[in-house]
Amino acid sequence: MCSVKYETDNDFTMSRNYTDILKYQINDEGCKTTSSTEQKKVEKNVLLLYKLNKEPILDRYKHTEFLKKSLIYLTTPYECLDSSRPWLCYWILHSLQILNERLEDKIYSNIVKFLSKCQSRNGGFGGGPGQLPHLATTYAAVNALYIIGTKEAYEAINRKALVRFLMSLHGEDGSFSMHYDGEADIRGAYCALTVAKLTNTFSPEIFKDTARWIQRCQTWEGGFGGCPGMEAHGGYALCGLASLVLLGETDLCNLKSLIRWAVNKQMILEGGFQGRTNKLVDGCYSFWHGGIFPTIHAILLKQNPTLNMKHWLFNQHALQEYLLICCQDSDGGLLDKPEKSRDVYHTCYALSGLSVAQNSECPLITGPQDINSVKPIHSVYNLELSTVMNGLAYFKLLPDTVNNKIV
Ligand SMILES: [Zn+2]
Repeated sequence: MCSVKYETDNDFTMSRNYTDILKYQINDEGCKTTSSTEQKKVEKNVLLLYKLNKEPILDRYKHTEFLKKSLIYLTTPYECLDSSRPWLCYWILHSLQILNERLEDKIYSNIVKFLSKCQSRNGGFGGGPGQLPHLATTYAAVNALYIIGTKEAYEAINRKALVRFLMSLHGEDGSFSMHYDGEADIRGAYCALTVAKLTNTFSPEIFKDTARWIQRCQTWEGGFGGCPGMEAHGGYALCGLASLVLLGETDLCNLKSLIRWAVNKQMILEGGFQGRTNKLVDGCYSFWHGGIFPTIHAILLKQNPTLNMKHWLFNQHALQEYLLICCQDSDGGLLDKPEKSRDVYHTCYALSGLSVAQNSECPLITGPQDINSVKPIHSVYNLELSTVMNGLAYFKLLPDTVNNKIV
């Protein structure tokens, strides 16, 4: 039985006592560094907000308006994302879906047409029309088309060319380059695997030795780095673990070590996650780190089906409080941390993290359930659950790839 213990009436009480939280302030032991100064500043800002004891309410209306507007008009700082336009589509559409907002069919159709222009004849999607195809933007485009979920959207993906594109990026050691002649890192393997699985173009040959290569990316800390020998990082850890899930090779992960690292990335005062050891809290790691826990949970249950675990192995209320009290812009959109500006990337990953934090086997919704409850996501793909199921059902009926050729 699930029991929701959280107070949802007007006399709001935070899940953690304010005076208890104060005890967790950083102690630099008299050795002031840039990191300790920055950490103190963040803690001060967060404590100011927690002290107000305001009920955490998800401002759905303002976030929705911000996202809808961003689909049509972006401010100048987004200029640097001209080669990441499929990402902008994905971040906005996914955020809206988590908030249970559906757009008009015409808008979706226009997005499909735009993404089609980003697709290369040689397979994969570039960052904009005519740009070099790249695994990261291919992941974003396929995810965006999945969210749209119409026949037009699914049919926009050139599967035959996609297979060729994936094979061309596969290295002898099992790694994947992000693009032709580009760097190989764990994002490449993850993006290649997710798009292959989502479009039913996966074959063991394309991913020969990839599981072993990913295993080599797990570090002494327990997380995964971008490539063997690099520092453990929240984003890379999600890519590494999710890839092993998609390859059916989770036994290659040192789970005990991963759990110890992952649980220690939740900041004891702020409640949100940091991306790496000694770094500051950041709203986007609510997903990159938080998203690891449903998979850890599934692996532990597989190892021991009698395990009585109804919640994830992190403080789900503390994360929701960080997101709802410290990371909402009063004009809509979510952010990294107080004093930072909102953007669609952080809005997407903060909402994705909020969804993970709420949707454990026994849901735990911080604040008023009818307002704050968001749609559950599949944390391996970071897509809303029914979106994944609908798309997989569609692509399952399409011809399989045999010897990497679609027959
Ligand atoms: Zn961030």
